Amino acid sequence: FSTEKGNLAQVRHVVLVLSGKGGVGKSTLTTELALALRQAGKKVGILDVDLCGPSIPRMLSVGRQEVHQCDAGWVPVYTDAHKSLALMSIGFLLENPDDAVIWRGPKKTALIGQFVSDVAWGELDYLLVDTPPGTSDEHLAVVESLRKHRVDGAILVTTPQAVSTGDVRREIAFCKKTGLRVLGIVENMSGFVCPHCSECTNIFSKGGGEELAKLTDSPFLGCVPLDPQLSSSLEEGRDFLQAFPDSATFGAIN
Ligand code: ADP
Repeated sequence: FSTEKGNLAQVRHVVLVLSGKGGVGKSTLTTELALALRQAGKKVGILDVDLCGPSIPRMLSVGRQEVHQCDAGWVPVYTDAHKSLALMSIGFLLENPDDAVIWRGPKKTALIGQFVSDVAWGELDYLLVDTPPGTSDEHLAVVESLRKHRVDGAILVTTPQAVSTGDVRREIAFCKKTGLRVLGIVENMSGFVCPHCSECTNIFSKGGGEELAKLTDSPFLGCVPLDPQLSSSLEEGRDFLQAFPDSATFGAIN
C-alpha cells in the first residue's frame, strides 16, 4: 500500500463531522453536506468511521459491498456513474456489523488507523469523515492517522437540548487538545415546521447551539429543523437535499 500521504495527496479538503452523542443527526448532516457539495460540482468522498452504527451506506442507498483492493489500497464505492460521490464505510469491512460492538479499544484503534490511511480516493475536492459519537480512542486514531495530512477542521453537530449536557463542550475541548480547528457548530432538530400550516414549534429549547458557539468563540453555521421528509428520504436512501447546508457552511469549509 502507498503511504497515507500518498492516498490523500490529491484530496484538497478534509473535514471531520463530530457530535457529542449519537442520534443527533451527524450522519444525516454528513450526507446532506456531501449531496450539496456534489450539486455544487465538487468531487466528494465520505469516510464512514462509525464502527458501531455505520448508517451512511443506507442513507445513500448503497447496499452491503464487497471491498475491492487495488495497488494503492481499498477502492471506494461510487454512488453514481459520474464518480462524483465516493464512499467507504467501515461497515463494508465487517463480516458481521454487530461484531465490532464487543471489540476492545486497541482492535478498533488499529482497524480505524489502517482504514483512514488505506483508501485509494484518487482526486477529491472534499473528504468528509463521519466519526463515531463522543470523544474516544477511535477519534484519536482518526486524528492521528490524518496527522500527516492537512485537515481543515471539524463541524460539530448538536441538538438544542444536548447543549445543556455539556457533550459538545467536550467535543470542543477535544478539538483544542488535538489541534483540530472548529469550523462551526450546527444545531440540528431545531424546531418542527408543521407541513400543514408551516408554523415552527420548538419541541426542544432553541438557540442552544448559537449560544454555545458564542461562548466558545466558534462560528455558528445554522439551524436545521426536524423535517419528516428528510428522515423518510434518508431511511429509503432517496437523495433529498435540504435548504441546509447553505452558503455559510460552504464558506466555513472552503
Ligand atoms: P447520528 O449520526 O448523530 O447518530 P443520524 O444522522 O443517524 O444521527 O440521525 C438519527 C435519526 O434522526 C435518523 O433516523 C435521521 O433520519 C433522523 N434525523 C436527523 N436529522 C433530522 C432532521 N433534521 N429532521 C428529521 N429527521 C432527522
